[in-house]
Amino acid sequence: MGSRFPRLLDCDLQDERAITERLRKASVIPPGSPVILGIGDDCAIYRPRGSADDLLFTSDMFIEGVHFLRETHKPAQAGHKALARSLSDIAAMSGAPRFCLVSLCVPGWASAANSTWTDRFFDGILDLAATTGTVLAGGDLSHGETLACDVTVCGSVPRGTALRRSGARPGHEIYVSGALGGSALGLDTKKGKPRQRHLRPEPRLALGRFLREHLRATSAIDLSDGLSLDLRRVCLASGVEAEIVAPPRFAGASLEQALHGGEDYELLFTVTGGIKVPGSFEGLPLTRIGSIVRGGGGVVRLDGKPLPALGYDHFATLK
Ligand SMILES: [Mg+2]
Repeated sequence: MGSRFPRLLDCDLQDERAITERLRKASVIPPGSPVILGIGDDCAIYRPRGSADDLLFTSDMFIEGVHFLRETHKPAQAGHKALARSLSDIAAMSGAPRFCLVSLCVPGWASAANSTWTDRFFDGILDLAATTGTVLAGGDLSHGETLACDVTVCGSVPRGTALRRSGARPGHEIYVSGALGGSALGLDTKKGKPRQRHLRPEPRLALGRFLREHLRATSAIDLSDGLSLDLRRVCLASGVEAEIVAPPRFAGASLEQALHGGEDYELLFTVTGGIKVPGSFEGLPLTRIGSIVRGGGGVVRLDGKPLPALGYDHFATLK
């Protein structure tokens, strides 16, 4: 959840946090429900009776002017990104995607008789769906004033093994995949590899499964809204605090972009102290950035100083 565009980040997230917290409290899961995890993680978990697998569900909206710009994203790139956002949540829970449902609200410019925009948009979805084993199983189409898309993905994970945000404990070590800040840099510079990074995020599905199967990771989240905010979410969900050093930066990205820039879609995860984490997975660096410490305030410290989950004013001046 959360806005993808920095200038909207603070107000959206402040509102989002308050609203989702209210909803989480109001949404009571009755005892014995097969919904074993509700609001507050990357996916909800549904446990079918007698099944060897738990099912994961996530949905993300993708709206023109909020999550993408028609002038920047080609239609196939927009389709790729719309699905990648939800697949990244499945990766964070260490699941395998099974199917997706795509609902699209199509404005006049995209549905004109000679427009191929919608076709190309679905090409982007279908290409990524094919490479990740995700079946496009349904959805809805409607006319409207703004192009808006909602993607729901169902994934699966062996029963009881989904990685959650709430499993980090004092003494656990904190790692990130890849290099951070590339997407924020690409949004700024609009060229080269950072631009590609911004336009075409790759959900870390294989890494998510590796974390569960080989590292027995204790918690994970995908970095959709920036390290400072997403690590804070892990800390709040786990009832702990975190001490980190500067994370690895995408070439050319500033420290601010690496700490607070959104849409990198790398994975942040924790492991117990005795686990040996390789330096890379399938060419993707895995870097230790700190450790979980005692404390219930959700505080993240960078080099010993509290790191704010940044707001509008600061973010708007990122360079
Ligand atoms: Mg997420």
